[in-house]
Amino acid sequence: MSFINNWLRSDIKAINAYHVPAADNMIKLDAMESPFALPDELIGQYLAYLADAQLNRYPNPGADELNQTLRELMDIPDEFGVLLGNGSDELIQLLALACETNDTILSVEPSFVMYDMIAKFTRLNYQGVALTKDYQLDLNKMLEAVNTHKPKLIFIAYPNNPTGNTFDRKAIEKIIQSTNAMVILDEAYYAYAADSFLMDIAKYPNLVVLRTVSKIGFAGLRLGLLIGSKDTVAELDKLRLPYNINTLTQVSANFLLKEKSEINNNAAIILEQRQILSKALTQIKELSVYPSQANFILFKAPKAQALFDYLKDNGVLIKNLSSAPKLMDCLRVTVGDNAQNQQFIQIVKKFYD
Ligand SMILES: *Cc1c(COP(=O)(O)O)cnc(C)c1O
Repeated sequence: MSFINNWLRSDIKAINAYHVPAADNMIKLDAMESPFALPDELIGQYLAYLADAQLNRYPNPGADELNQTLRELMDIPDEFGVLLGNGSDELIQLLALACETNDTILSVEPSFVMYDMIAKFTRLNYQGVALTKDYQLDLNKMLEAVNTHKPKLIFIAYPNNPTGNTFDRKAIEKIIQSTNAMVILDEAYYAYAADSFLMDIAKYPNLVVLRTVSKIGFAGLRLGLLIGSKDTVAELDKLRLPYNINTLTQVSANFLLKEKSEINNNAAIILEQRQILSKALTQIKELSVYPSQANFILFKAPKAQALFDYLKDNGVLIKNLSSAPKLMDCLRVTVGDNAQNQQFIQIVKKFYD
């Protein structure tokens, strides 16, 4: 028996590690990254900006300039508070740390796996409530589960990952009003969605919104934000580790995220490509394609595992969800640039020929 096996909490031993597949030299359409690199004409300026970073000093503890940059990029009103995290994953963990020993985290299924994983890490209970068969919120089931389990945190990804759709706004409002729990609307894909709950923070004291720059072109920065009332953010801020946003991230983000029109333009290209890709997939008669408000598309494919392998053998990596609960035969593809999407479609067509 190895040391660690004797030593480790048995519930941690039982967890399957979050698996990130190798993607060297592949067209990477598995992780909702943006296909757009920094434009050549900005590289020189960016490097000059970086050279000014004082790496012998600790970062700005409150990341004040970055806070302002994000408010401007995402049109966040001054009256709301903003808490920054090392990715929004860190903020999910921070919310879990604010809970008491026997508290419950509630979310829907299928949804983002980190809600469940972080509940496990922090020894909280986790309760998943099944979506309907077309991946909508089942409001009665949700209200019943809220009543039975009395959760402390309710996570709703809006749009949802991995299904790509948004849920009925009225149903979400009912859930927020029905509970003393903090309700977290996780808007990782806000840039690709028609609606948002950002402004509803003023109306509902128990509502907070999570966002991230990961899905709008900056997954490598590891930068997420929690937006809520000022008093909520001030209290949660006590749980943040000092200097959690490192200097290179602060400096880079302060330069890169000021390019608001470039960022919005890239999002518009993805929206256009999403429509083209969705249409092309729909025209392949073997597939059923789900509607998307995000930068990825979920589709049901006969012989999903074989199609996934065939794509991989041909240099295209997507996400295989076909063995996950409620996602039988489902694959998820990130919307890439036009050339990547075309290559992906050609391979899928060839597979079913
Ligand atoms: C990608 C994703 C995140 C994680 O974002 P990071 O900021 O990269 O940690 C959070 N929530 C959902 C629903 C996601 O899909």
